Amino acid sequence: MAKAQETVLEINLGALTHNFNYLKSKLQPNTKFLAVVKAFAYGSDAICIAKHLQNLHVDYLAVAYTKEGIALRDAGITLPILVLHPQPINFKKIIEGCLEPSLYSPKILTEFISVAEQEVQNNYPVHIKFNTGLNRLGFWENDIDYIVTKLKNTNSIIAKSLFSHLAASEDKNEERFTKNQINTFKTLVTEFKSKINYSPWTHLCNTSGVINYPEAHLDMVRCGIGLYGFGNSTKENSNLKPIANLKSVISQIHKLEPNETVGYNRAYTAKHFEKTATIPIGHADGIGRQFGNGKGYVIINNKKATIIGNICMDMIMVNITDIECNEGDEVIVFDNSHKANELAIAVNTISYEILTSISQRVKRSILS
Ligand SMILES: *Cc1c(COP(=O)(O)O)cnc(C)c1O
Repeated sequence: MAKAQETVLEINLGALTHNFNYLKSKLQPNTKFLAVVKAFAYGSDAICIAKHLQNLHVDYLAVAYTKEGIALRDAGITLPILVLHPQPINFKKIIEGCLEPSLYSPKILTEFISVAEQEVQNNYPVHIKFNTGLNRLGFWENDIDYIVTKLKNTNSIIAKSLFSHLAASEDKNEERFTKNQINTFKTLVTEFKSKINYSPWTHLCNTSGVINYPEAHLDMVRCGIGLYGFGNSTKENSNLKPIANLKSVISQIHKLEPNETVGYNRAYTAKHFEKTATIPIGHADGIGRQFGNGKGYVIINNKKATIIGNICMDMIMVNITDIECNEGDEVIVFDNSHKANELAIAVNTISYEILTSISQRVKRSILS
């Protein structure tokens, strides 16, 4: 692998294949696999990831917003695409792009039916989202009669699936709550199916649900973070491979005398004779201000270099007093051995946020 000479996010498609096969191995052979590629495929590159997943024969893709689905269609992705969180202003675009909306409230259902009728659709596939305890998006169990009546009064749409989302599938301490969500969902599915004359698919599990609740895999699972190499536990992290390496380079090295300060607002003061390296990555690239002042770090020549002072828009300064290095040397923010979930702990967040924060300014480089 060539050494980075600028800030670059390397995307390892071999690791993606490995993670997909690993997650698939947890499923029954006929359970379908939906790959969640929202937020630029968790901060990587949605188009390149979706193309690779299409080659791996995933059954479905999901994005959060309509715009993300349209971008995939424009890039030639032909898989069915579920839009998890659409708004009425985009319903016409959803139909034009052959995207499939999640319908999560009476207002959203009514407005989608009205647009589908205007667009003269017949059996347009939609996905009915139920709230079983996350209290974020979704119909309640007692909305079933309302939904069924709406479905019976129109030919424009068909419920291709019924789904819900687990609130704490990664947390063993919440096992009782999760089992209760699973049972609530199974009960409402039975009631729903008894009231219509066809059988929508059902799905409930995200990555941690796949790992921890095999009894809830149902017809399909929806995996995001696992595909990108993280399993929300030490054990599962060791079975998965991070697909993205964020690397950069040392632009300049400075020698400080005691009491000299570094960066904006003079937030760091040298206590001794110290050495710093300036790196071309800042808050506009996804290294947020919470990484500053000793919290975050990068890896230089296999050693941790702490970020000192405030994070700038386009650069950070790190302490290299005890590290042998030169201008032009490679810097690792995270990779396969210095993992994003460990960095996440240092800056008080989770792997999801570290990954999705990497901004579009950072060059992507595909390793195949
Ligand atoms: C983001 C998302 C997922 C994927 O969750 P992971 O924990 O990343 O596997 C699944 N379902 C829904 C509804 C989501 O919003």
